[in-house]
Amino acid sequence: MTNISSNLFKIKDSLPESVRLVAVSKFHPAEAIREAYDAGHRIFGESRQQEIEIKHGQLPKDIEWHFIGHLQTNKVKSVLPYIHTIESVDSVKLLREIEKQAKALSVRVDCLLEVHIAREPEKYGFTMDECREFLAGGEWQDYQGVTIAGVMGMATYTDDKEQIRHEFRALKAFFGELKDSFFRDDDSFRHVSMGMSGDYEIAVAEGSTLVRVGTFIFGEREY
Ligand SMILES: *Cc1c(COP(=O)(O)O)cnc(C)c1O
Repeated sequence: MTNISSNLFKIKDSLPESVRLVAVSKFHPAEAIREAYDAGHRIFGESRQQEIEIKHGQLPKDIEWHFIGHLQTNKVKSVLPYIHTIESVDSVKLLREIEKQAKALSVRVDCLLEVHIAREPEKYGFTMDECREFLAGGEWQDYQGVTIAGVMGMATYTDDKEQIRHEFRALKAFFGELKDSFFRDDDSFRHVSMGMSGDYEIAVAEGSTLVRVGTFIFGEREY
């Protein structure tokens, strides 16, 4: 067994069945993804349009690609043909562009609203109030290219486990609030994407449904 596949099995064994694993393969070569694929894994996370395009060409077509990085509006059109889920929708402007381009391509893409939960000032992500305001506006109910499938968040980069727990708990509670307010009868709003290599165990304990783990599986990235 390779390192990658044994790491993959280690983490999969530790996750409850209700939690899905996104293997974050950004900056790792297609051969590394292939190893995880051959070990049975199908969901991979990438953060750059060009990298996905290249890897998509090199790898089997039943891979479910998740986009997890900041996405510029001018890259939306070129990334859509390869993508199952965009986890990092961080503005209304971006969401509208995804809707416009997906509709034009007659595809439908799952989108998660990236919510700013960390203590450090972030460049990207919605505040909770911005999410509430957008959803209350209702335009998303007519979207044909976008399914709003949940929320995503990143905790503060810190050793303080209680701080991290507190932030994940807040995101889970916020998901519950949005579910009750806007998606009560809508099963497609279902994901709380939280947890990375350093904090996924806390995230799972706090109700994550989707963890995004890179380093633990593939090793350190060389940028
Ligand atoms: C890179 C990245 C990850 C994976 O981080 P690791 O620490 O390598 O597990 C998860 N989520 C996002 C949004 C990322 O950019």
